[in-house]
Amino acid sequence: MMEKNSQNDSGKNGGNNFQEKLKYLLNFDTSKINKNNASRIAEELRDEINKNNYYYYINNNPLISDAEYDNLLRNLFDIETRFPEVITPDSPTQRIGAPVEGGFPTVVHSEKMLSLQDAFDYSELKDFLNRVYRDLNVSEDEVEFVCELKIDGLAVSLLYENGKLVRGATRGDGEVGEDVTSNIKTIKTVPLRLISGYYHKIPSILEVRGEAYLSKEEFKRINEERLQQGIFVFANPRNSAAGSIRQIDPKITAGRKLNVFIYAMAANAELDIDSHYEILNFLKEVGFRVNPNIKKAAGFEEIKNFCEYWKDKRKELSYETDGIVIKVDSLEYQKRLGQTTRNPRWAIAFKFPPEEKTTRVIDIKVSVGRTGALTPVAVLEPVVVSGSTVSNATLHNEDEIRKKDVRIGDLVLIHKAGEVIPEIIKVIKEKRTGSEKPFIMSDKCPVCGSDAVRPEGEAVRRCTSLACPAIQYEAIVHFASKSGMDIEGLGPAIVDKLLQKKLIKDASDIYYLKYDDIFGLENFKEKSTNNLLNAIKKSKNQPLSRLLFAMGIRFVGEHIAQVFSNNFKDLDELMNAGFEDLSNIFEIGPRIAQSVVTFFKQPQNRAIIEKLRKAGVNFKSGKKTLNINEQFYGKTFVLTGKLDSFTREEAKALIENSGGKVASSVSKNTSAIVVGADAGSKLDDAIRFGIRQITEEDFRKMIK
Ligand code: NAD
Repeated sequence: MMEKNSQNDSGKNGGNNFQEKLKYLLNFDTSKINKNNASRIAEELRDEINKNNYYYYINNNPLISDAEYDNLLRNLFDIETRFPEVITPDSPTQRIGAPVEGGFPTVVHSEKMLSLQDAFDYSELKDFLNRVYRDLNVSEDEVEFVCELKIDGLAVSLLYENGKLVRGATRGDGEVGEDVTSNIKTIKTVPLRLISGYYHKIPSILEVRGEAYLSKEEFKRINEERLQQGIFVFANPRNSAAGSIRQIDPKITAGRKLNVFIYAMAANAELDIDSHYEILNFLKEVGFRVNPNIKKAAGFEEIKNFCEYWKDKRKELSYETDGIVIKVDSLEYQKRLGQTTRNPRWAIAFKFPPEEKTTRVIDIKVSVGRTGALTPVAVLEPVVVSGSTVSNATLHNEDEIRKKDVRIGDLVLIHKAGEVIPEIIKVIKEKRTGSEKPFIMSDKCPVCGSDAVRPEGEAVRRCTSLACPAIQYEAIVHFASKSGMDIEGLGPAIVDKLLQKKLIKDASDIYYLKYDDIFGLENFKEKSTNNLLNAIKKSKNQPLSRLLFAMGIRFVGEHIAQVFSNNFKDLDELMNAGFEDLSNIFEIGPRIAQSVVTFFKQPQNRAIIEKLRKAGVNFKSGKKTLNINEQFYGKTFVLTGKLDSFTREEAKALIENSGGKVASSVSKNTSAIVVGADAGSKLDDAIRFGIRQITEEDFRKMIK
């Protein structure tokens, strides 16, 4: 289920606005369709569906919810089933996804990448099973099914030649996808090289299909970052995964923690296998990540039990699922059942109903974040959604409130985007009484009363005062937090007290607090005061990466802070780096580089850093500056045998300093093995895994 992103659109329907036209196309009485109007209404539906396909698949920014989209498609299916003469070859019922749009080279799939037929309830699931039995002309107990989780990401196709990944592509319109190999290669769980199977040999050409996805947590992180930048937030992990894979710059893709589950193999691989279940085992055996939650099932009851179990259990998974895929297990039966232009006839997706609840907006409050961003938040009458009580929902910014037309007192429909973030889907306007109050965003900061401005072209309004207590408060709480300097005992309540009593003004002041400053505050007794002072002292030795994250530099999250710490020997070296130096680092784009340069230019930030230095806070990363060498960067090497010109330690240091890693034993993740004289069993392992071998001479040349 998706966030709606309403917009005005003077559709064909008598110049009605977007919402009205949609309502009409969703709710018309299908029994009133006749020979005379079928073709026109089908065409209107096609227009609407095509437009939404574009926003969903190409822009990754849907205008309507999935449920609404599915309804539009259903209405079109209904009309086309009753009046087949109105079907057009380019109807969305005959096609998959949306055409690919420039930017990437195209790939013609060796075998069409299909969509799946949906079942929205158990009676539709039953219909599917009965159709399978009937078409195969067999009894119920003769067909086994495999039930799998339907991962909510985007379909990818991976091509291996002689066990090596040579191409990664998106599904596109099913026949033609986009070549996104460089981006696919940044996904750590995509094997670049396969391990020889125990039971089966790896076919020389092997094409597999799977779902690339983002975890719920990563989806949340990316959206928080986008919110800060004032750009549209992704409606769900699926759109953000698609947005991440379809990036022209692989560095951006690498910065997002994409993952993959492989669930199928293109049928043309030559293997002695006759069931889908065996295919999954084979895929696992040769090194692919296959989802473990798979079950063989015979008949409706067993399948239903699996669906019922996962309907709730899926909320505990770290990634989003939107249904269960049920597949006929026998490949022979699959072949006999065949496929339509859109779907295989041997599989169906049982879709979980999205959890939506109605509740009332009691108030709209504005909070001020670390960067001074003012965020309106709807205070809701508490209601349980997808397993937890929701009592407020972010409204992102004033444009979003206007678009959705949310007023205080409104009854609203809410859900959790990506099962995580509470969000208002829409206002139930029919239930308005006239007493609802529109919300007007003030141009003053609600905390300090300073001007809150909204720069041209940005969606976010920000408090302009650096001294704003809300900004200071949030910044200090963040500094001391568990993922920051991890100062146990320095929570929000005590930070608030210290600020009120003017004992601290910024984060560096924490290190100058004395026993008497703390004792007596917020029930601090002798023991707790000493504990806090010790925790503050201990935090001075935190690694540089934590300090960088704790400083709250815009766009520098935990991972990026680690990247900086890997690339600079200390804070001073980072502070003195220019825009060019920073943006040359792998995973650092111009946006982050600019933000870091700007941050360190500010005199007030420099002053805080100097106070931290004086207090003895660690500025060193403990790492030497890397001398990145493409041939080593991001790769794992194993050393074996005796090298003439280097000791083991020297060779190891050279690899690490070039951006590579040295492992003590060979695994499928080893990129290459450096082979010296009298090589031992590691070389045998490398041969078995088919790992590249490098002689000492090659190694010397690579190091340069
Ligand atoms: P789908 O997502 O319903 O099902 C097919 C896909 O499921 C496959 O391509 C594959 O990628 C995926 N999948 C995940 N796990 C799988 C597994 N274990 N085995 C096999 N396949 C698995 O179909 P679709 O054509 O990709 O997309 C349609 C979906 O997109 C619908 O949910 C629809 O509501 C949504 N949509 C929404 C809008 C909108 O405007 N809101 C527009 C277009 C599409």
